[in-house]
Amino acid sequence: MKFYQKPRGRSTRLIVSIRLELCVSAVFRQATSVIFNFSTFVETLFRNSRMVDETKPAKKREMKWAAILWYIYIHVLGVYAIWFLFTSAKWLTVIYTLFITILGCLGVTAGAHRLWAHRTYEATGFLRLSLMLCHTLAGVGSIYDWVLYHRLHHKYYGTDKDPYNHKKGFFYSHYVGNALSPSIDYDEMKREIDTRDLDQDGYVWLQKKFYWPLFLIFGLILSLNVPLEYWDESMTETILITGVLRFAITVNVSWLVNSARLVWSMEGKKLIQISDTFNLLMPPYSISMFFLTKSFWPVYHYIIPWDWKCGEFGSYASGFTTFFIKVWHDLGFIDLPQTTDTEDIRTMLHDVSKKKMTFANGLDKLKEKSIYKAKEVKLMVKH
Ligand SMILES: [Zn+2]
Repeated sequence: MKFYQKPRGRSTRLIVSIRLELCVSAVFRQATSVIFNFSTFVETLFRNSRMVDETKPAKKREMKWAAILWYIYIHVLGVYAIWFLFTSAKWLTVIYTLFITILGCLGVTAGAHRLWAHRTYEATGFLRLSLMLCHTLAGVGSIYDWVLYHRLHHKYYGTDKDPYNHKKGFFYSHYVGNALSPSIDYDEMKREIDTRDLDQDGYVWLQKKFYWPLFLIFGLILSLNVPLEYWDESMTETILITGVLRFAITVNVSWLVNSARLVWSMEGKKLIQISDTFNLLMPPYSISMFFLTKSFWPVYHYIIPWDWKCGEFGSYASGFTTFFIKVWHDLGFIDLPQTTDTEDIRTMLHDVSKKKMTFANGLDKLKEKSIYKAKEVKLMVKH
């Protein structure tokens, strides 16, 4: 049986070939339309899955008992260690402990917070590896989880889904928030928070995958071995000061990044309310607030979190972490630090007030401009 018979005449062959072309192009159009519709459908599903469902009630938070016992242990023994610090510890132990405590704190502030959580700058592989090891020294869990929780904190700022909701007071924001499980499931959290940049960072992946062996080696064995091995410090002083007291300090510094607003932020009468959570101008209660080094910068951080100069604890363009980033930038290990200035913010606010754009669009534009300027500076430095 013949399925296909070769056309005899020239005109017949032409008609058949046109029909075939039409048929192929119709099939192609249909196929592309199906692919396009499917990709749109998947994209919509993906977008919907990442959208914040504000109406969905927050899950009841539960006690993380293992973590609570660890926190009680390091706080009680950490206070006890202060006695040994001033009475029997060797000077070298004190200096060494201070040094690795500062490294641990930098791993949290310069590393987890400014580099990985907010991408305020880009760093070379060597610096990212060093910051990852510093963060491991702090003993505050993996960078991946720290960033995930911090981004959740920014996204749901001041709501029940914020793990460190400042509206419930300092004790809740600083202590209770860290002792409870989050108000949404871990998997749901990962769907809502964009972590693609973290997934692509090899050092973050390495630390997440091998957190406990790395913590055991760098956070405990190697760091505690130094005082014992090199200047014959006693076991009690080493464990209490270089071990427990260090963790008590680094854990509190890590928690303060999320509760800083309640310590250093200047609160007062609201002049301009942008939204329920952000107020642009807030005059101080009284001039005496200045003596307590209160500032507007903790509030600024929640509006412009990508500014590398904004300190975690109420400072701007100053402080040890900012100095640390500046030094490494000058040495060429840090690239494209993003910042903004009064003039650009004023222009953006003017456009918002003239209804040329929304406040959210204005912030996006401000960020775009800061990236552009950072690239411009980089090119100028190269010339
Ligand atoms: Zn932040």
